[in-house]
Amino acid sequence: MNSEKQYIKLKEEVTELKQQLHEAHEIIDAIRKGEVDAFIVKNGEDKHQIYTLKSADLAYRLFIEKMNEGAITFNEEGIIIYSNSSFAKLFNVPLKTVIGNPFINFIPVAYREVVNNLIKKAWLEEENKTEIIVNNNKKIGIPVLLSMNKLEIDGGVALSVIATDLSLQKETQQQKITMEKMDEFISIASHELKTPVTSIKGYVQLLKHNFQKEGHETASGLISRVEGQVNKLATLVAELLDVKKIETGQLQYNEEEFEINELVKEVVHDCEMNLKRHSVTLDFCGPQILKGDRNKIGQVISNFLDNAVKYSPHNSTIYLKTSVEENKVCVHVKDEGIGIPLAKQNKIYERFYRVSGEKENTYSGLGLGLYIAAEIIQRHNGIIGVESKDGKGSTFYFKLPLSN
Ligand code: ADP
Repeated sequence: MNSEKQYIKLKEEVTELKQQLHEAHEIIDAIRKGEVDAFIVKNGEDKHQIYTLKSADLAYRLFIEKMNEGAITFNEEGIIIYSNSSFAKLFNVPLKTVIGNPFINFIPVAYREVVNNLIKKAWLEEENKTEIIVNNNKKIGIPVLLSMNKLEIDGGVALSVIATDLSLQKETQQQKITMEKMDEFISIASHELKTPVTSIKGYVQLLKHNFQKEGHETASGLISRVEGQVNKLATLVAELLDVKKIETGQLQYNEEEFEINELVKEVVHDCEMNLKRHSVTLDFCGPQILKGDRNKIGQVISNFLDNAVKYSPHNSTIYLKTSVEENKVCVHVKDEGIGIPLAKQNKIYERFYRVSGEKENTYSGLGLGLYIAAEIIQRHNGIIGVESKDGKGSTFYFKLPLSN
């Protein structure tokens, strides 16, 4: 009798175990098909607990998995039951060490109190955001925004946390503030400088004229040097004013027809003082008529020439060439100077950009000339460009449509 009872009991146990096995198979099947997400969390020494998150939409689950923000979910005990790979990446820990561990362990000690308080409030749905600084092996001081929301999962509750890396946003904000400050400074400085520089330039010209007339050669030579420096200053002030006008869309263009070779000759003549230590070779195509702002195109040629002088050694040659290609006039300025590394060539037209390096750091400048030149050429429907190799000289050119 005893053994019969035992037999019946065992049979019942086997049936129950079969039933449990069947249920377990169903869950595993659902996980395989993507109908259910399962998280196994170690609960105590040997026990494991399965959490499931029903998510009918596979696309939504993939979206969470692929998004750049870190996303985790933790239970009422604070144990992480889901984490995407971005969270692990942001905190620079292997993904497998995230799930099943307390969320608070990943928070830097200095912020644990703040985050614990936030967690309490987030459970009560009172407050849900805070910013913390995270250090990982790759980067120090990453600003991270934690945003928490209470979720209903399988009849229970969990907190979801989205961790957003704010580094890029902060950097852009900082750059914007710096640029705005710089613009403000430029605006004030250029206005304050314009009047005195213009009047010094006028007096210097008058003095030079008088010295020359009275035959004071030494004084006239010295005043010519002063004139060269004042001209540089005047160019700088004009550049600063132009930048402000470009930024506010107020740079005025006066259109007229002009012959390009004459303009090039005129610019070379005006730069004579500056070109004294270089040889200049000119190569002109036949006369070509262009339509546009003559002064501004002259300003671009002058900037190319100034740079060719500045970034190439004394006694080297600067080649100036005009040519016609497919209904376009091209002006080339070639030097035998320090050149520009390929990777930096598309950046040189940016405002304030200067190539940095041991050689480049010895030259003065603001990084505005090419920014203005590019703006002027683009406004004339032209193309501006450079061919250069590091240490092997540069050829700057622009191409403008011929006037028909
Ligand atoms: P600036 O010369 O005042 O710095 P630019 O806008 O005219 O400003 O030029 C931007 C940068 O491009 C320069 O700082 C320099 O690094 C590089 N560059 C321009 N022209 C040349 C050149 N002919 N040879 C080598 N580098 C040049």
